Amino acid sequence: MIIGSHVHFDKEQILGSLKEALSYGANAFMLYTGAPQNTFRSEINLDYLNEAKKIMAENNISMNNVICHAPYIINLANKTKLDAWNFSISFLKKEIERCETLGIKYIVLHPGSSVGLPAEIGIANIIEALNYIIKDDDNCMILLETMAGKGSECGRCLEEIKSIIDGVESANIGVCLDTCHLNDAGYDMTKFTEFLDEFDKLIGIDKIHCIHVNDSKNPIDSHKDRHENIGFGTLGFATILNIVYNEKLKDVPKILETPYVSIKDGEKELVYPPYKFEIEMLKKGTFNENLLKDIRDFYK
Ligand code: FE
Ligand code: FE
Ligand code: ZN
Repeated sequence: MIIGSHVHFDKEQILGSLKEALSYGANAFMLYTGAPQNTFRSEINLDYLNEAKKIMAENNISMNNVICHAPYIINLANKTKLDAWNFSISFLKKEIERCETLGIKYIVLHPGSSVGLPAEIGIANIIEALNYIIKDDDNCMILLETMAGKGSECGRCLEEIKSIIDGVESANIGVCLDTCHLNDAGYDMTKFTEFLDEFDKLIGIDKIHCIHVNDSKNPIDSHKDRHENIGFGTLGFATILNIVYNEKLKDVPKILETPYVSIKDGEKELVYPPYKFEIEMLKKGTFNENLLKDIRDFYK
């Protein structure tokens, strides 16, 4: 199984990301090339990159298993403020170049929010922007993430994802499934085989290059988007296990974006990553109902 989590990208850039992933027992990871909420980006350090490549080779981690996530503030769906839309386009282009420098082959993108515009207009804006951004010979492919349908999010159903892909002239575009978002958007993850068949008919399974593996705090069709730790939410452990071990998706990296576990220490609240434990649990295939306690004990 190719599995990891989202990790930091700070002091040692991708080398630090890799070390964090290895500490979780992961063979895949996802990074933001800077803070997810802003567009400040530091220069790529080639020494860190070369050292990371060496360690990845030693650990048999392929660059196909390293995913980038574009910052949230990029919004291609609304061009009412033309400056902001143009900025999103040029920033995403630069982000693709940064990925190419790092050797990263996939960048996950939230399609965008139409904010006040009808969904069809939002989707038309996304298509227009992507046609400026995507080139056939880009070495990094944009993956459209399936969204929960919170507010005016585009990409809330497979039909919307399909119409974006159909509108983009290049075939150099793929999809990232998010299990929490799919549940919240109204897809029944307990019937994953049926879901995949539907996906295959509409879009094609070969377009899936990443899966965000998250449980959900909310019921199906709630359009909320609040992630829960594996086995502690609406999807439950068996449903998630069935997804991560799907034979048709065995070469696709699975990335956890579950919430950090908090520990109250007097006045202050400390938070710790659950990933080492969740990865272990998914590899073993048995649910640990004491997971959160084990995490707290480990980091205490
Ligand atoms: Fe995302
Ligand atoms: Fe996600
Ligand atoms: Zn989410």
